[in-house]
Amino acid sequence: IVRMHGLNKHFGSLHVLNNIDLEVSQGEVVVVIGASGSGKSTMIRCINGLEEFQSGELRVDSHDLLPHGKASRALQTIRTEVGMVFQQFNLFPHLCVRDNVTLAPMKVRGVPQSDAIATAERLLDRVGIRDQADKYPSQLSGGQQQRVALARALAMEPRLMLFDEPTSALDPEMIGEVLDAMRELAREGMTMIIVTHEMGFAREVADRVIYIHQGEIVEQGAPEEVFDNPRNERTQNFLARVL
Ligand code: ATP
Ligand code: MG
Repeated sequence: IVRMHGLNKHFGSLHVLNNIDLEVSQGEVVVVIGASGSGKSTMIRCINGLEEFQSGELRVDSHDLLPHGKASRALQTIRTEVGMVFQQFNLFPHLCVRDNVTLAPMKVRGVPQSDAIATAERLLDRVGIRDQADKYPSQLSGGQQQRVALARALAMEPRLMLFDEPTSALDPEMIGEVLDAMRELAREGMTMIIVTHEMGFAREVADRVIYIHQGEIVEQGAPEEVFDNPRNERTQNFLARVL
């Protein structure tokens, strides 16, 4: 569903992504790890066109994204097919939970309001916050807000979900509830690319772990391989620091 080949991205003179090759198949759960500033966010933001790249190939669900942000039609389609959950929840503060979840399906997909509401309630139920539907984001805990963000992304029926450190802004006691919702989603077969520092979760949920160092994928493999038997010295050093 994702095919990235020889992707290069610069911010001015900074070479942030260096010849990245990444293929993700339908139903696969890929976890991306690496030090701060290694390019993890930039890489996944390229996949839904939030960042432009300068060279290389990028195909997402049979749509080609071109260097320098060309091909805006493909970009629009991709954004409706790829859901994203960020570290900061980015909910609409002036809308209640239910309206946060129904807005995009109604506006972008033209789903009738009654259907959008039914879907929203089902999704809110699934992430365990159906009883919060009339509240506003500011009235919810961080963990609840992040689950609303997840429900909101799922309401668009994405073919692929991107997560950029979805639990990093949460108090420790709320991390579990968000990881549980993600675990459930993985079990249901959603294709997911997840940037996280939650190594226990990564080990448990990932089909494949990718380690990025200074904009390059230096190691990847099954979680047991990467965590228990890292071959690359940089991966070893990184894991020694975080595990
Ligand atoms: P973290 O774990 O801290 O989130 P990351 O691996 O996600 O780090 P990125 O955010 O992808 O790292 O950043 C990669 C590099 O690109 C960093 O050196 C960062 O300073 C730089 N960078 C990111 N965004 C921009 C920008 N908009 N303009 C200039 N440089 C940027
Ligand atoms: Mg980041």
